[in-house]
Amino acid sequence: MNHPQPITMPIPGHIDPVPVPRDLKPRVDGRIDLLGLSRDDLRMALETAQLEPKQAKLRAKQLWHWIYNRGATDFTVMTDIAKDMRGWLDQRFVVSRPEVVEAQVSTDGTRKWLLRSDDGQDYEMVFIPDADRGTLCVSSQVGCTLNCRFCHTGTMKLVRNLTPGEIVGQVMLARDALGEWPSQPEGRMLTNIVMMGMGEPLYNFDNVRDALKLVMDGDGLALSKRRITLSTAGVVPMMARAGEEIGVNLAVSLHAITKDVRDEIVPLNRKYGIEELLQACADYPGANNARRITFEYVMLKDKNDRDEDALELVRLIRKYRLPAKVNLIPFNPWPGAPYECSDPDRVARFSDLIFKAGISAPVRTPRGRDIMAACGQLKSAAEKKSRAELDRMAAEKQAALG
Ligand code: SF4
Repeated sequence: MNHPQPITMPIPGHIDPVPVPRDLKPRVDGRIDLLGLSRDDLRMALETAQLEPKQAKLRAKQLWHWIYNRGATDFTVMTDIAKDMRGWLDQRFVVSRPEVVEAQVSTDGTRKWLLRSDDGQDYEMVFIPDADRGTLCVSSQVGCTLNCRFCHTGTMKLVRNLTPGEIVGQVMLARDALGEWPSQPEGRMLTNIVMMGMGEPLYNFDNVRDALKLVMDGDGLALSKRRITLSTAGVVPMMARAGEEIGVNLAVSLHAITKDVRDEIVPLNRKYGIEELLQACADYPGANNARRITFEYVMLKDKNDRDEDALELVRLIRKYRLPAKVNLIPFNPWPGAPYECSDPDRVARFSDLIFKAGISAPVRTPRGRDIMAACGQLKSAAEKKSRAELDRMAAEKQAALG
């Protein structure tokens, strides 16, 4: 009797895992952008360009230092690399920065940039200086799918995820503008990063993780994970992975404590409800009293700002035993916004009620209102301007940035 032939493929024996290089797409000029590559990808890019492995390893180490510690964008300054080799690199590679379309400085020192990708997508970043620190608010996507009703970015369609290079490029550009190269452990103006710009970072998980790994690398930008905060609207299934694979601080856009109101303000709530979200916060790896989870709460008049709301928030934080602090954000309206900001005394009373329960609940001072620093506002305003006007402004700003 004939035995039937096996229809499945044979199962191979043990093989060593082979790192798969990221598919590196050359730019229009044929060169490959090194910004945003991991150490391995950087080495492999050199090997793919026919540098022999030992050389590639050494050059990758040197390039890493120049790119992320010294902020170099030009191979000619890399003086510990032989001149011929610098020329060779320059023919094949670039180290880019996002294009600056518009840069503004507020009377309170807040700086905001509208940036443009190679394929013509605009996104924003904001730098907020304080007496003893400076925070860069970084975007993860162009537009957003989540349509939070109080958020201006939520009114734009999602265009695409930003790449690791475009995400880390924001930090590099801010360092350029602040004159913070080489990377110093002390005395920096850019001390903190919040993934709180345009987009939902957990819907662009891999790119955000890879970019933040570059930001945290001790031989490069060297920002501690304790100084980086990832803010999510509540993508519950990705939260544990974020804690394990990135390990940064967590902020959650809570904004309401009843299903009805949160369903309206943060529509993602219809998918992952409040209790599920708070359980995921309780399970977040690494959260403790020294590293508390921040709950963002935007103050909307007659919507989520009653005493009962504050008390229910306290009850929920206690129920899930959350090491938490609450950030109260006075709503920053834009033309046509569907809400108004709560009155200042209402915000103060709301804050008091939470503080009295032993939970920190500071009111965030609005920053950069004169330059529309709230997320998404600069991009919208720019879309109303003509292309020629924007090009002229970009040239002026680039010149001003030196
Ligand atoms: S708040 Fe964040 S998640 Fe919500 S729409 Fe705005 S950018 Fe998207």
